[in-house]
Amino acid sequence: MTTRDTVTVFYDERMLAHKPDTDAAFLPGRMDKRIRQILTGLGVPWKYPEHPGRLIAIKALLDAEPIDGLSFKAGRAATRDELGRVHTTSYLEHMVSLRGKNAWLDVDTTAVSTGSIEAALVAAGSAIEAVSTVVRGETGSAFALVRPPGHHAEPVRARGFCLFNNVAVAAAHAQAELGCERVMIVDWDAHHGNGTQDIFWADPDVLFIDLHRSAPFYPGSGRLEDTGAGLGEGTTVNIPMPAGAGDTAYIRAFTDIVTPAAAWFKPDLILVSAGFDPHWYDLALNVSYEGFAAMAGILRDLSQQHCDGRLVFVLEGGYNLDSLSHGVHAVLQVLAGGEPPEPGVCGVAEVKAAAAFHRDAFQPPEPDSDDAQD
Ligand SMILES: [Zn+2]
Repeated sequence: MTTRDTVTVFYDERMLAHKPDTDAAFLPGRMDKRIRQILTGLGVPWKYPEHPGRLIAIKALLDAEPIDGLSFKAGRAATRDELGRVHTTSYLEHMVSLRGKNAWLDVDTTAVSTGSIEAALVAAGSAIEAVSTVVRGETGSAFALVRPPGHHAEPVRARGFCLFNNVAVAAAHAQAELGCERVMIVDWDAHHGNGTQDIFWADPDVLFIDLHRSAPFYPGSGRLEDTGAGLGEGTTVNIPMPAGAGDTAYIRAFTDIVTPAAAWFKPDLILVSAGFDPHWYDLALNVSYEGFAAMAGILRDLSQQHCDGRLVFVLEGGYNLDSLSHGVHAVLQVLAGGEPPEPGVCGVAEVKAAAAFHRDAFQPPEPDSDDAQD
């Protein structure tokens, strides 16, 4: 194994302290009233979908089925200055004032619990550390297993279970402190990374490419025609996908759009907003584990071609614990030097197995020897 195949995984238990619980008392106000109305209207008990069990499931699978070349590291809290590269001062002051409290942040049900601000600081700081470790050449690649996720968080607004925009904070840090002039961010989460797009909309030095299920799917942004503005015109690339799009469509997007875009942009670093909700268990799209592995393989090749292998994954969404943990595992196997398996077509392997199982049932009976003589 070469250094290139070593992978550092950032995992920090402080991120488990973010756990909004609707049974707790939240800061009173119009937002609380409105969200209580919405939740009551659902008629079924509602639990915060972005919960600590997500990270626990990933770590449990990596412990049960270890991958050669992986090592784990704890993260650190991001500083106010590091966050201030992509968020406004007033937003950061408001977030810090919520330390130790339960509060709703957006009518889409994004919330904080008493441990959330600390967790969110460690999430952003872990993404920074992942980038630093890779750019300093201490590891081949890195995967920051973080929550709360980040790509919906805008400069002044928490949304979509995201508090700080982890991948954007990491990209800005790489530019400001690590000598990376041009950073490419590929976002393959099922949802459009509206926050990341917003932050780098007019920035020619960050190429943001987002594959997502098209509007009206949440958050509703990410039109094909949205390509950035001002100096950043052309460095935002949206690839809206129809419901149910799967491996073939995703891999086609990677070969026909992501690959030539990388050759044109010549990044110094590639970051991935890796959500695992395009897997079919999350019901929006139809990507398989082999599909995630294939996309990771293409990005690994692009990073070797253009930026000395500098490749960092940052976790976004993914809510089914099976597909989330197995999806992360499949990507890490590729980062550790494994060859991505060829994606099949969903169901074909199962039909082949079923055909073998039933084969005998439909054979004509063997003619017995007496009949043969008649
Ligand atoms: Zn998502």
